[in-house]
Amino acid sequence: MSALLEVDHVGKTYVMGGLLSHDEVRAVDDVSFTLTEKPEIFTIIGESGSGKSTLARMILAEAPPTSGTIRFEGKDVTHLRGRKERLAFMKRVQPIFQNPFEAFNPLKKVDRYLYMTARHFNGARKRADLEAQADIALKKVGLSLAEVKGRFPNELSGGQLQRIAIARALIPEPALIVADEPVSMVDASLRTSIVNLFMDLRDTLGVSIIYITHDLATADYISDRIIIMRKGEVVEAGDARTVLANPQHPYSIELKNAVLSPDAAIHGTALDTVDAMEPT
Ligand code: ADP
Ligand code: MG
Repeated sequence: MSALLEVDHVGKTYVMGGLLSHDEVRAVDDVSFTLTEKPEIFTIIGESGSGKSTLARMILAEAPPTSGTIRFEGKDVTHLRGRKERLAFMKRVQPIFQNPFEAFNPLKKVDRYLYMTARHFNGARKRADLEAQADIALKKVGLSLAEVKGRFPNELSGGQLQRIAIARALIPEPALIVADEPVSMVDASLRTSIVNLFMDLRDTLGVSIIYITHDLATADYISDRIIIMRKGEVVEAGDARTVLANPQHPYSIELKNAVLSPDAAIHGTALDTVDAMEPT
């Protein structure tokens, strides 16, 4: 099976400071993994500052790596030439961000974004076509155009907005979605339905999803494969069930123990979510 995405010894170093001071941050350090064409949920988990978003931005061709190569469908993503090639790439690889309230302009009706995406990536022009594409995408996320048409972002919940953001990402019919902490700003009660949606999209549309999170509970629930990052490095990688059932690296063990600690249970975070998400 040929590769969808190859992340090959990728590193990113940020250089900060001016003439007198000079600081380097190695945000991502020698990360490698491959996604085949078989749809899967590939999770990148790690604490804040471990380099997850930097890696995501490099995969989305928004920032070039300082070392290594990222190839999507065989093509180096840092060598996208011109508007046409970039558009073709973006059509195949779509992002979903953490904060749905930031993804939408408060002064713009949300359905406008769906039409803009249909126009930009699919070349739709007629009102009827734009609305049809928006409606089809919204139905894939459990909504419909009738429900969201003419609404402003502040009239919708974070969960609804994140669904609309996912619908928007589906309009170009991507092969890969890169979702950077997509449920961390969503009410805990709605997280389950969103992560269930990702699994549904994998199964029904055959889309692969890079799911980025610091939350072990949702990672455990939806991941096919997982990498655990710490300080820019991958400390553990493999089949999600295997890695999370029996973590080997001290940091992975620490991560797992943190979820299972009485503190986490008392604060009603991870464990409640796991219980609520147990498939019936
Ligand atoms: P995560 O998403 O896991 O929280 P990030 O990729 O955002 O991690 O950050 C990894 C490291 O790189 C952090 O130390 C962060 O401060 C640093 N970093 C991220 N973006 C930049 C940037 N644009 N300039 C300088 N340092 C950055
Ligand atoms: Mg981040």
